[in-house]
Amino acid sequence: MKVVLDHLTKRFPNRTKGEPDVIAVNDFTFEIPDGKLIGLLGPSGCGKSTCLNLISGLEKPTSGRVWFGDTDVTELEPENRGVGLVFQNYALYPHLTVRQNIMFPLQNLKGADKLTKEEMLRRSDEAAKMVQIENLKDRKPAQMSGGQQQRVAIARALVKMPRVLLLDEPLSNLDARLRLQTREEIRRIQRETGITTIFVTHDQEEAMSISDEIVVMKLGVLQQIGKPQEVYNDPVNLFVAQFLGTPAINTFTGEVINEKIYIGEEAVLPAPGVPNQNVWVGIRPEGFVLDENGPFTLDLTRVEIMGRDTSVVATHPFAQSPSVRAIISSENEVDADAARIRFSLKPKKVFIFEAESELRIRF
Ligand code: ADP
Ligand code: MG
Repeated sequence: MKVVLDHLTKRFPNRTKGEPDVIAVNDFTFEIPDGKLIGLLGPSGCGKSTCLNLISGLEKPTSGRVWFGDTDVTELEPENRGVGLVFQNYALYPHLTVRQNIMFPLQNLKGADKLTKEEMLRRSDEAAKMVQIENLKDRKPAQMSGGQQQRVAIARALVKMPRVLLLDEPLSNLDARLRLQTREEIRRIQRETGITTIFVTHDQEEAMSISDEIVVMKLGVLQQIGKPQEVYNDPVNLFVAQFLGTPAINTFTGEVINEKIYIGEEAVLPAPGVPNQNVWVGIRPEGFVLDENGPFTLDLTRVEIMGRDTSVVATHPFAQSPSVRAIISSENEVDADAARIRFSLKPKKVFIFEAESELRIRF
């Protein structure tokens, strides 16, 4: 099922008295293609949950429409939209078994949708199988790990065969290893079922790893939509560049003079056609190449050798953060006693942004 957001806006009265309204979702217009997994990504408070709630119907928009396929669902109640919901807190019924928990949504179906007991059992067993907990069906939630409980919650969302699956930070309560495993699981289930899925997270790595496309948001405003790697390689502004990638992009204050990018006194890269101006310079950690004749110099703090890669941790007077991180292949020898290290830069890994607007300047 294709999902279309059409100038969708949600305004809340501020929770702090006297402060202006909060525009949690500001004029969102985009289309989620049928059968895809979309990652809705942004820092805490940027409006991800609100956006998801507008799609599920838990919230009604201040203005704008939501479409499922050719149907305008804006006025429909959540139970009539055919959505499956999974939240951070699994909210299972503690006194019911796993099987009863999964079956629960089916027992509330009314009229023409009403199912026989056999059909309910069949469907809940199928959903349990899909998330690989069929051998735990008779347990109570308290007898299961967090990861298993979250699988029950996912099975419960799937059992009604939703047209759209909505997941709001579903992995946040799991420890690191389970988080990794469960996210792959979600990806597999999504591929198998082909259900259009929207996955909310503040974790860029999580979103990048499982999404067909990511939607990056900031303060209720959509910043960029695209395939994860495309957005990483071609960010539209400084926020997106800084939000994606671990370690994060290194940001410097710089200047374009005579079609060259300067950081301090050093002309680090040509920028043909760019007018003279102050800029932000972003350099991805993998954009540095050891080069004793290179144009860019860092003050070395330490060298961290980690298997395949070597991290050069350094400082620079024009850097926006206390340390700069360059990642190079560990086949390179770095003199850990050197005070300064010179680099040349990979042009595709260097971005510049307008000083005021922070918009990308392409060159
Ligand atoms: P996220 O899920 O990205 O953390 P939310 O969608 O929960 O963000 O919230 C977005 C903004 O809207 C925040 O500033 C939040 O405080 C505000 N907000 C969310 N729900 C309400 C509400 N019911 N009343 C007032 N403000 C709200
Ligand atoms: Mg949220």
